[in-house]
Amino acid sequence: MLQTSVKPQSSAGSATHDGLGHYCGLAAAFAPDGLDIARTLFYMLFAQQHRGQESCGIAWEEGGLLRSDRRLGMVANAASDWQADATRSRVGIGHVRYATHGGGGLANAQPLAVDCNKGRIALAHNGNLSNGVALRAELFDGGSIFQTTSDSELILHRISRSTAVGIEAILRDALSGVEGAYSLCLIWNGALVAVRDPMGFRPLHLARHGDAWLVASETCALHALGPMDWREAEPGECIVVDDDGVRSFFLEPAPRRSRCIFESIYFARPDSYVFGRSVHGARMALGAAMALDDELRPDVVVPVPDSGTLAALGYAQASGAPFAFGLTRNHYVGRSFILPSKGERDLAVRMKLHAVREVVSGKKVVIVDDSLVRGTTSGIIVRLLREAGASEVHLRLSSPELKWPCYYGIDIPTREELISNRLDPAGIAAYTGADSVRFLGVARLRAALDAPESEYCCACFDGHYPCPVYQGS
Ligand code: SF4
Repeated sequence: MLQTSVKPQSSAGSATHDGLGHYCGLAAAFAPDGLDIARTLFYMLFAQQHRGQESCGIAWEEGGLLRSDRRLGMVANAASDWQADATRSRVGIGHVRYATHGGGGLANAQPLAVDCNKGRIALAHNGNLSNGVALRAELFDGGSIFQTTSDSELILHRISRSTAVGIEAILRDALSGVEGAYSLCLIWNGALVAVRDPMGFRPLHLARHGDAWLVASETCALHALGPMDWREAEPGECIVVDDDGVRSFFLEPAPRRSRCIFESIYFARPDSYVFGRSVHGARMALGAAMALDDELRPDVVVPVPDSGTLAALGYAQASGAPFAFGLTRNHYVGRSFILPSKGERDLAVRMKLHAVREVVSGKKVVIVDDSLVRGTTSGIIVRLLREAGASEVHLRLSSPELKWPCYYGIDIPTREELISNRLDPAGIAAYTGADSVRFLGVARLRAALDAPESEYCCACFDGHYPCPVYQGS
């Protein structure tokens, strides 16, 4: 039996970046003797709030029922009662969602929970299927009825329609022909199942915590519950946790791996490990790589908080220039200031970021951010620094020029909106008012993170899509 509850609430998300969004974060737990499921998932999702602020949800088994609770808004605001919820369950999964692909609203909030011919199944998905449009059309033409516009529902349909027998055979069958990015957590007739797509686009981790097994997109969600041993799920690995313990099998291998390099550049939390390496260390390495190629000798290196902080620190250490917080950030700015009309954008950025005169006045300033999207915020930041007395302002980006859309789970503005498709670095300097602008090249990026083309996706920078993309995906 299936019981669901949905609770609308005004969204109170707070974007921290000029136009990029992540699609989702996952959390899951299994304990043979049961655990406080809502409470456990609350803390794991709270730690991954940066991966999606539009909606949050949990699903769990209770007394033979599969139950779910999905809400609009951020975990701390929309679901604070989960902290005090004493519901005991052996298995649960959770999800935070950033809604652009497939649209927002409660209907698309996850986990999705269904009764089907394979039993009671709940599913939470991080990623985007690059052939989702074609798969949906095929199912629709075959008579399937959809309740959401998200491509995650396609996976449930394919599981239900499979004629194979047993979790392993059904998953192999259902996921063959599914292309793109999918890290999944499922409750499947009382078992916890975690799946990472064969190309390994999105991170997924497994940990042991006392008697419980935990799964999360990022390790920060695991460590929110205390210290524990963890490991990364391998690309293509399907992990089943049930009363018999933990076992793995693998989907058909892909010809290459395609870990999303943007997880290390911007999306993941700095204290997390993704793809087997520290995000903190990765961002420091990117900053250092930028400094190696830069003949500039700045008086001070200033980060754009918080996204540029670690790259600026790496740049400062490698260049020998002092690091200082020449911009402070107001952490109380809510969503009302995030998407203002064009005329109000300047004011909105001024409400959020403030230049520190004492740090930048009379100085040749290098300002560091992780990436450049539309360029509008950067222009205002340059102006703020000049108003505070900076004699020169040089903009440095710890990633290459962002030029291409992502079909694998990151929301990137259209090609026309991306400033690097309209202007070269000299043009961007003129547009933003900076004295110079430099990006980290793709080759330097790959070298700094030891991320060869056979292992990592850089398609939004170089247009080399690791698996086919289709119009409308
Ligand atoms: S296109 Fe960019 S954002 Fe998308 S998966 Fe590849 S590296 Fe990540």
